[in-house]
Amino acid sequence: MIGVIYDNAYLEHKPPRNHVENPSRILAVIKSISDAAIIERPINNVDDWLLKVHDPNYVRQVDEACGMGYVFIDADTYVSPGTCRAARLAVGAVMRGIDKVLGGEWSAAYAVVRPPGHHVGRGGRALMAPTQGFCIFNNVAIGAVYALEHGINKVAILDIDVHHGNGTQEIFYEDPRVLYVSLHQDPLTIYPGTGFIDDVGEGEGEGFNVNVPLPPFTADDAYMKALDRIVWPIIDEFRPQIILVSLGFDAHMLDNIANLRLSLNTYAHIFRRLRDMIGRIKGVVFVLEGGYNVDVLGRGSRLLVDIMSNKDAEVDEGVTQTDPRVMARVNSVIRDVVSVQRNYWHLT
Ligand SMILES: [Zn+2]
Repeated sequence: MIGVIYDNAYLEHKPPRNHVENPSRILAVIKSISDAAIIERPINNVDDWLLKVHDPNYVRQVDEACGMGYVFIDADTYVSPGTCRAARLAVGAVMRGIDKVLGGEWSAAYAVVRPPGHHVGRGGRALMAPTQGFCIFNNVAIGAVYALEHGINKVAILDIDVHHGNGTQEIFYEDPRVLYVSLHQDPLTIYPGTGFIDDVGEGEGEGFNVNVPLPPFTADDAYMKALDRIVWPIIDEFRPQIILVSLGFDAHMLDNIANLRLSLNTYAHIFRRLRDMIGRIKGVVFVLEGGYNVDVLGRGSRLLVDIMSNKDAEVDEGVTQTDPRVMARVNSVIRDVVSVQRNYWHLT
């Protein structure tokens, strides 16, 4: 069964002017799932955990910005008076979900949170990205650390947001206990400009970072091929005890912020595949990242809840097909990723 973690405080992270990352996103999510899942509140006191991932100076800067009214801290990312509480409770939602899953109460959790987190590194901007991409604290990364300090030795983070999770990659780049796998739009064509095939981790962490950069216009058939050839075999071989998902709905074809062409069929495929792992793993914690089409956010979230609850879930969209020229490029990306990752994993 799946439980949801949510708090109205997330609505108090408010943009100073029109912005794609706004409260209507999670209102749409909650509206679509409130009759189908239990909703719990996040853990409140998270400051000790914040500091296990973020520099104290960075946390202080964020807190100061929250005292300044409605301000932009970079070209994309805003802070409002309610942001500091919302961002802490976003972290607390992931921690609550991990508690529920590790305690055996839920097999899956969905942290319906904002602000998102995967672009933020230890000290703010990560890997020389131009901005923090709407993110304040790295919710999923703090969740991974929390799991590691609660009896878990191996965490897999699957990042299916259309953007590369540069913050998460940076934080765990030398850590073999956390496998970071990201599928994202080619960084040469989109923010944050990071996430290349050769980024495999460093030191002890070498081999535990997997990037699959996909060309614009990649559709369902090609994306699922990349999942089947690279992502599922590596996660299976790693044998995580828990999987955290950076869940972005911005890879959907109706999302205007990016250029992939997925339908909800790919999301359904991912949700079913993860559901079928439960038993071998303690559970899955989904953490909302991006996704800026409120209709897709609502329908996709409902699909997640229904599939994880073992209900029949119909996808009311056709499977999208990749143009042959784009497919040729995807095939070459898959070949390149396999040839790099074959040094660490049994890939064919
Ligand atoms: Zn995104």
